[in-house]
Amino acid sequence: MKNGVMMQYFEWNLPNDGLLWKKLKEDAVNLHQLGITAVWIPPAYKASEQKNQGYAAYDLYDLGEFYQKETIRTKYGTKAELIDAIEELHKYRISVYLDVVFNHKIGADQKEKFIAVKVDPENRTIEISDPAEIEGWTQFNFSGRKGRYSPFTWHSYHFTGIEIENSKEDKHIYRITGENKHWSQDVDKEKGNFDFLMGADVDHKHPDVISELNNWGNWVVKELHLDGMRLDAIKHISSAFIHQFVDHIKTSNNPNFYFVGEYWKADLLTLENYLKTVDYSIDLFDVPLHYNFREASMSGDKYDLRKLFSNALVARSPSHAVTFVDNHDSQQGSSLESEVECWFKPLAYALILLRKDGYPCLFYGDYYGIGCQEPVQKNLLKILLEARQKHAYGEEKLYLSSPNVIGLVRYGDNGRPNSGLATLISNHDTNLSLMMNVGLQKAGEKWIDLTGSVKQAVEIGKDGIAEFHVLARNFSVWAKWGNTRKHFIGISDILKRIKSKCRK
Ligand code: CA
Repeated sequence: MKNGVMMQYFEWNLPNDGLLWKKLKEDAVNLHQLGITAVWIPPAYKASEQKNQGYAAYDLYDLGEFYQKETIRTKYGTKAELIDAIEELHKYRISVYLDVVFNHKIGADQKEKFIAVKVDPENRTIEISDPAEIEGWTQFNFSGRKGRYSPFTWHSYHFTGIEIENSKEDKHIYRITGENKHWSQDVDKEKGNFDFLMGADVDHKHPDVISELNNWGNWVVKELHLDGMRLDAIKHISSAFIHQFVDHIKTSNNPNFYFVGEYWKADLLTLENYLKTVDYSIDLFDVPLHYNFREASMSGDKYDLRKLFSNALVARSPSHAVTFVDNHDSQQGSSLESEVECWFKPLAYALILLRKDGYPCLFYGDYYGIGCQEPVQKNLLKILLEARQKHAYGEEKLYLSSPNVIGLVRYGDNGRPNSGLATLISNHDTNLSLMMNVGLQKAGEKWIDLTGSVKQAVEIGKDGIAEFHVLARNFSVWAKWGNTRKHFIGISDILKRIKSKCRK
């Protein structure tokens, strides 16, 4: 879809109230009006405990339907509520992508005995004990589901390894041994072999596992009418498995079924190699770009803004990069904490929402407010989303003459009146300006800063050139004066509200 925007519709610390699916349903019309064209929903199946975010995956077939783990609903609600929400989203042509946790299972029903070797946690290819029988949580019976949808039960031989924790100090990673049993080799090479992440590590080479997960994939696509999947933790999963799974789902359902993978690594080459390995059948989150945003946000005017995209996936594989500012893993207090500082977030969003390349993903936490509590933030995001819908079309040109202020021009589409825009991003501590050419056909037009931060309109010169301004450590988005007046009303209202708060 032209100028599509994905929204990650959850954050790490949502309350365990079972209300997310209901909220999502009620929000569908609002999301549509905002310009959201797809939502990425959290893992929607039964986790090891109700309050878990879903990444401690227990039973993929229990979408909040069976009494298991002392609950029918998940943290987010029941299966019926989820189906309702998806139906509502589809009314507004919003696609739904499910978060899929294939790497591990957690919350086994029974312990089993099996032969395993202890491995060095820092290099999992090094064995630090002889093979011996151990006991671990590897049997998943799903007795509350009673074989509905799938009779498959999981046992130690369906896993490659397991972490056994007797206490915080007495914690070990074991590799389960047996015929044809080893870590998958086609995984990330960090820690020698990064197949193991947590819990009971699923063996994606086991033929019964492959067919069970393929069957589940087709089942869940049909059951929920999904449009796509976000594949969790793929650097810990056999790339051959992922490749065949993606092919299987596309072939069985829809060649345009959408996949984005989470390969959490800031190394561009690794991401590019992964895309090649899976034959460009999926997109990847642009993790290097996220870390650039993070660094820029922490470095103030010491950061050369021209470097922001230099090692980014979107610069190298523009049609396979999902650009984002933050997510549930990078937010404060979470596992991969690397949050972009508040002042820079709107600037980063301006770049991912207004540039031509990349599939931008808006984080629930950034829109609804966690960490950065200024009310202006949500309104700035609204302005940017509207600018993306109305103005961010056509070819682009970057102005990169200065390390502290960069300019972006979109020339617009002939078929879209008022399309075209000019953006300035600045990390400098004084107000600055740039001369930019927005095209001869715009000569004589009056352009305004949609964010309302620069009050003075500019007139585009006969040659298509004008001087555009930006305030210190801020951004501005310039477009033709016309149907955008309401922003000024919105912004001035907000400023009034802030002022009255300050007075109190
Ligand atoms: Ca694994």
